[in-house]
Amino acid sequence: MTQAVRVRFAPSPTGLMHLGSLRTALYDYLLARKTNGQFILRIEDTDQNRLVEGSIENLIDSLKILGINCDEGPEIGGNYGPYIQSQRLEIYHQHINELLDKGLAYHCFCTKEELDQHRQAQMNLKQNPKYSGKCRSLTPDEIKAKIDAGLDYVIRLKMPEDRTFSFNDAIRNKVEIDSSLVDDQVILKSDGFPTYHLAAVVDDHLMQITHVLRGEEWLPSTPKHIYLYECFGWTPPIWVHLPLLLNTDRSKLSKRHGDFSVQNYLNLGYLKESIINFVALLGWHSAEDRELFTLEELVNEFSIERVNKAGAIFDITKLEWMNGWYMRNLDVKYIAQEAKPFFTKANIDVSDHNKYLKVIATAREYASTLIQLIDFSKVYYQDFTLSDEDLAIVKEENSQKVLSWFHIKLKAQAEWTKDEINALVKEAIATLGIKGKHLYFPLRIALYGSSHGPEIPTLIDNLGLNEAIRRLSLFL
Ligand code: GLU
Repeated sequence: MTQAVRVRFAPSPTGLMHLGSLRTALYDYLLARKTNGQFILRIEDTDQNRLVEGSIENLIDSLKILGINCDEGPEIGGNYGPYIQSQRLEIYHQHINELLDKGLAYHCFCTKEELDQHRQAQMNLKQNPKYSGKCRSLTPDEIKAKIDAGLDYVIRLKMPEDRTFSFNDAIRNKVEIDSSLVDDQVILKSDGFPTYHLAAVVDDHLMQITHVLRGEEWLPSTPKHIYLYECFGWTPPIWVHLPLLLNTDRSKLSKRHGDFSVQNYLNLGYLKESIINFVALLGWHSAEDRELFTLEELVNEFSIERVNKAGAIFDITKLEWMNGWYMRNLDVKYIAQEAKPFFTKANIDVSDHNKYLKVIATAREYASTLIQLIDFSKVYYQDFTLSDEDLAIVKEENSQKVLSWFHIKLKAQAEWTKDEINALVKEAIATLGIKGKHLYFPLRIALYGSSHGPEIPTLIDNLGLNEAIRRLSLFL
């Protein structure tokens, strides 16, 4: 029997969850769901200097909002916990001691100044900066003396020399990296915390992770990880290095160049459906190059074989297009519900639910985000001021005829269906002999504040009869 897939999303809590991390989490999730495997959330907080308060909560919340549910993790527990690395220090220390005992790792007492000097000298000689190896051959007595003297130290992994590390990556196939490019990695820092490299390998093994999905930036570190597996006598997982995210000019997407957090896109009024769909296509494509997928459809379609090697272009205009599509095609009640917090924040009272639904149904034809719905909706709730040009149009003699005719007609009946209003428009054309923009522009300007926009029956229906009559009278 083949082993069930176990994948982990292992973010460091260093800020708000961004779309690049979301992609890793999503691909993990899709692979796990597709194979009936397990999706694990593990918090990698061993770099205590980079911790940002609130980021663990933000990571967990973002996944929850997007419906990417994990099977094991800090909140829900599981058989392989704890799932927060700072709560696993004892485990790492045991493993580091094992490496020390086997002579595969060593104490290093070099100071920051020494390391910096050496690095600078190497850079001046245009050499690849690497640890000098100075502490590799300290004797046990020398080590003891230095520890007794209270010197700070780290533990380094003794990387083999003259060796080519060759491994398979599910996306890149065979990868070879020469050991001359690989440093004697620090595995335990002077603060007693392990580094990512040691902690991730130990956890991936103990948590029985079968596939490691992570960003391409970790590819050069993979030899260190493979070597750690070797030192412990463990079998490495399947490596899956996901392509870089690029700007439209193909430069590397940098967190400094914008706020790519999930939270930011939610705040801007993007739907979770489009965020997920958009992120899924950052480096993966379906067999038939289809673009629109629900999360369930992605679970069915996803496969690692169709993740690309080449960098994935992050094109925000595509997200906008997708969001507009979802806004127009999902159930209007759902869109109205998702949009409500934005209206509340904008102080627009949408308590008349019937009216609100009608307004959203119209506004979503024009808006591509939930926030933009407000731009196309507030006119149904608030008075507006006209441009000079529009004001001139409503003042024209024919315009006044049109407005007054509709004013009288609409008042004559307690209720009007959209069909009846449609018929009324036809009647106006026949009776007044005014048609086209000479009829529509003044009506739309008076009712909606702009000569362009929805059809007249829709406008009157959305406003409600009384408000429509009031607006017509305002311009007479
Ligand atoms: N903690 C690492 C990061 O946030 C995870 C890399 C990995 O998935 O192994 O980049």
